[in-house]
Formats: sequence, C-alpha cells, structure tokens
Amino acid sequence: MAIHEKSLIDPDRIMTHESLVVDGVDVSGHWNTMVAPRFLSDYDDDFSRIIRQYPGGENVHRCWQCGSCTNSCTMYAQNTDFNPRYWIYLTNLGLKNEILKDKEIIWTCVSCNKCTNICPKDVRPEGVMKALAHWMEEEGHTPKTRSTIFDEEFTGQVLDHGRIEDAHVLLNFLRKTKQSYFQDWLVEVVKRIMRHMPVAFLSMLGWNFVFTPKTRSWGRTGQVLRDYVREQKEAAHARMKETAHV
Ligand code: SF4
Ligand code: SF4
Repeated sequence: MAIHEKSLIDPDRIMTHESLVVDGVDVSGHWNTMVAPRFLSDYDDDFSRIIRQYPGGENVHRCWQCGSCTNSCTMYAQNTDFNPRYWIYLTNLGLKNEILKDKEIIWTCVSCNKCTNICPKDVRPEGVMKALAHWMEEEGHTPKTRSTIFDEEFTGQVLDHGRIEDAHVLLNFLRKTKQSYFQDWLVEVVKRIMRHMPVAFLSMLGWNFVFTPKTRSWGRTGQVLRDYVREQKEAAHARMKETAHV
C-alpha cells in the first residue's frame, strides 16, 4: 500500500512482506506494507507556547492540518523534505527533536508567503518557519543564518541612518557571509544599471554610497528606535522564560 509522506517515517519502521497473512486472511499485495508503532516520551508540552512568543509564530496552535501550505509551497516543489504542515504538526505536539532533524532546511523558506495566503486558519506558516529558525538559532542548534544576517544588516542601516543604502546592505551582507562580491547576477545588475540609468541618477547613487547621508534629525529618532527594539527583545525573552516555567 502506498504510504503518504513515506520519507517522514524512519526506514527501519517500515515493514514490507512478500506475502502476508493476518488472522487467517491473506493480505499480500496491496496491503503488504506495515509501519511498526512507536511510543514517544520526549515531547515538550510548552513548545508550542514558546514558538507563539516569536514574531510570526503567534497562531501556530490554530492549524487543522489541511496541508494547503505544503501543497502551495515554493520550496516543497523543489524538495519534498521541506514540509511546513509537518513542522507545524510537530510544533503543536512539542516534538522538538523531530524538528531538529530538519534544522538544515527549515531556514531555507524563501518568504514567498504562498502558504500564508492559502491557509484557511490564518496560521501564517511563513511566520512559523521564521519563528522555528529563530528558536533554533537562539538555542544554539544552528549558526546564525544568512537570512538573520541580512535582517540585522538591513535593520542596522535603518537605525543608524534612517534610510537604506542598497549597495551597503548588499556588500556588507556578502562580506559578513563570506561570499564573493563578484556574483554573476550582481555583475549583470550593475551592468544594466550602468547601461540604462541617467547619469544624474548614477551620480546620486555614487554620492550616497561614499557619504552615506542620514535622514535629517535622525540621531534622536534612531536612539529612540534602538531603545524600543531593545525593550521589545527583553520583554520577549522575559515572556519566553515565564512560558518555559509555567
Ligand atoms: S494551510 Fe494552515 S491550517 Fe492548513 S496545514 Fe497549513 S498551517 Fe495548517
Ligand atoms: S513562505 Fe516559505 S513555507 Fe511558505 S510557501 Fe513560501 S517557501 Fe513555502
């Protein structure tokens, strides 16, 4: 019998028989595959509540497992091991160790939000993927992802200057993630900009790149925003500690 999402079952629990007789009934052929039962004791009752404290994870408990998120997922189309429905299921059961088996791919969500648009329960699976990735980083299960490094660079520029200088974000991101500046796609983008943009615009880009102007009177506003972000982080950590001890 075909088993749906067979890759999610440990191979040594799948038993296939050439011929099989159960209680005197020959069930060989279509029914020749069985899955050995298992008993789980390493679940964490608080895990779903912890993930709900992360931005994006707030509605994870609403999932009714329809599978629409996985069916529509851009990454699932590339790799059937990328399965938001399954990870949301594991989150709600508190099976952290099962989630950690996929720690190398959960962060690869491309934030296309197809899952979020299609979800009938407003779970916002994209946010849950981000929440799981952040939880894994904070608990030391994974190194800082490129996605986090990009977010930090982007946010840092807003807080420092009150504006985004695209070239700085990109070059700093490539440097911090130890990637070459001479990416084929980047070279192509630069060529097209040089070819199609008016000279005045190119001059402005060059000026901004060299002098990194700030939004007027940004100093005080930037400091207020920094304080706000710090307070929010501290409050979120406190809530998570509280949740873990309920
Ligand atoms: S689409 Fe929404 S309700 Fe359906 S499985 Fe995905 S998260 Fe759950
Ligand atoms: S946002 Fe992420 S999880 Fe959702 S459909 Fe896109 S790649 Fe899949």
